[in-house]
Amino acid sequence: AHVKPTDLLRHPAKIFGEGRRNSEGFDLTDEGTLARIEAARAVPIPDAGPLVAGEVSGRAVPVVNPATGAQIAQVVEADTDCVARAIEAARVWQAPVAERAATLRRVADLYEEHFGPFFAVLAREAGKSQLDAVGELREAVDFLRYYAAQAEASDPAPRGIFAAISPWNFPLAIFTGQISAALATGNAVLAKPAEQTPLVAAMAVRLMHQAGVPREVLQLLPGRGESVGAALTSHPRISGVVFTGSTDTALMIRRAMAENLDPSAPLIAETGGLNAMIVDSTALHEQATRDIVASAFQSAGQRCSALRCLYVQEDVAPGLIEMIKGAMDELSLGDPWHLSTDVGPVIDDEAQADIAGYIAKAEQEGRVLHRLDAPAQGHFIAPTLIRVGGIEDLEREVFGPVLHVATYRGEDLEKVFAAINATGYGLTAGLHSRIDNRVQEVSDALHVGNLYVNRNQIGAVVGSQPFGGEGLSGTGPKAGGPLYLTRFARSPEAAAPA
Ligand code: GLU
Repeated sequence: AHVKPTDLLRHPAKIFGEGRRNSEGFDLTDEGTLARIEAARAVPIPDAGPLVAGEVSGRAVPVVNPATGAQIAQVVEADTDCVARAIEAARVWQAPVAERAATLRRVADLYEEHFGPFFAVLAREAGKSQLDAVGELREAVDFLRYYAAQAEASDPAPRGIFAAISPWNFPLAIFTGQISAALATGNAVLAKPAEQTPLVAAMAVRLMHQAGVPREVLQLLPGRGESVGAALTSHPRISGVVFTGSTDTALMIRRAMAENLDPSAPLIAETGGLNAMIVDSTALHEQATRDIVASAFQSAGQRCSALRCLYVQEDVAPGLIEMIKGAMDELSLGDPWHLSTDVGPVIDDEAQADIAGYIAKAEQEGRVLHRLDAPAQGHFIAPTLIRVGGIEDLEREVFGPVLHVATYRGEDLEKVFAAINATGYGLTAGLHSRIDNRVQEVSDALHVGNLYVNRNQIGAVVGSQPFGGEGLSGTGPKAGGPLYLTRFARSPEAAAPA
């Protein structure tokens, strides 16, 4: 039942997941839906803490709302004894694949039923706009059903215990994607959510336990990277690590694993990006403007897929840049609860200070082309447009609503490709062009995981746009794609009886 890439091309059903459909999402114009979201808003968000098979120990800390700085609830962060006991208690999931898949589908159904509480916690804890919350819940549900279908198609054998370390920018979708892949394959999972977003993680794990995932198979360990993350990634009983976050943290994890884990333990990492979009002189300006603004500023730019450096062909640049400024002026910043909000806060005071410092420097250098006003209260950064000579001027990934723009001459396109590849990252790229063979040219030239043509470059869809990069952007296999589960499984050769 091992799936070979060549088989996949012959059997597209294996890519999309046989008999499976993506979530239909939630209609934010429907009064009944809005009433349930509003009702959930009035309910206090429950505190969180380790959800483990053994005894809990740790320290309670406040969880704050990034839009207001106010405390929402508290979380007990696991100490290293708690982590050690959880690892000891962990057991692989003995249930047959059909039962595991059915359980994950029940989780998906429970998630959809609980959309109100999820939207409430996503807004308050992660600063997600309602539209982003819809996208996030859909993606989480799609991961559950997709990996359930993929596991049934291939009946994989588990490696053992996986540590799943997830980011705050997709605190439900990526959190659920990592866990559901490991569980579909039959592994035990120890999940460490991001420090900033333990509440939504606890809500999700309670539903997974309720659906029938055994407690010793899935345990939640909220806490700091330096303590919980470090304890997990350096414990010899861990058989694999799945991680989404910064490239630097991925390197630290790899070092810890190399020193302490079995050499065969995989690291499946999705990391940073310095993503470019090329707009040539044949592009449709209205469409390009819409897609540029969405790619750079939706989710307050806090996506690893987000557009960071726009290249516009010189002859059309002045007009297009004016249109981008005009479209930026239409963005509304503020409380993520309001349906009209396009851009919510950045995740915390540290992120705000870091991005604000970066913009201030560009301002001093006279490179800020356009900037909105941010609300005075809360951790907001106003969408900002900064002029650069090329992507080589970006020293690092600035994880917020900051777009850099460069111009290029038509005959220099090859140089643009070379500069983009020279960043070492390779996550997403965008192209706006109406020249057919340019699509092939760009896709041959750029070393990126996901290339989007004549559209925005965010929001990969499970089962149809597997997501992941190369180089400094990650190890692969792509999430939401047909090969993802193979890294969570023992190889068929190793699993076969001798
Ligand atoms: N999958 C998301 C997208 O396509 C990005 C994930 C991330 O930011 O880590 O926009």
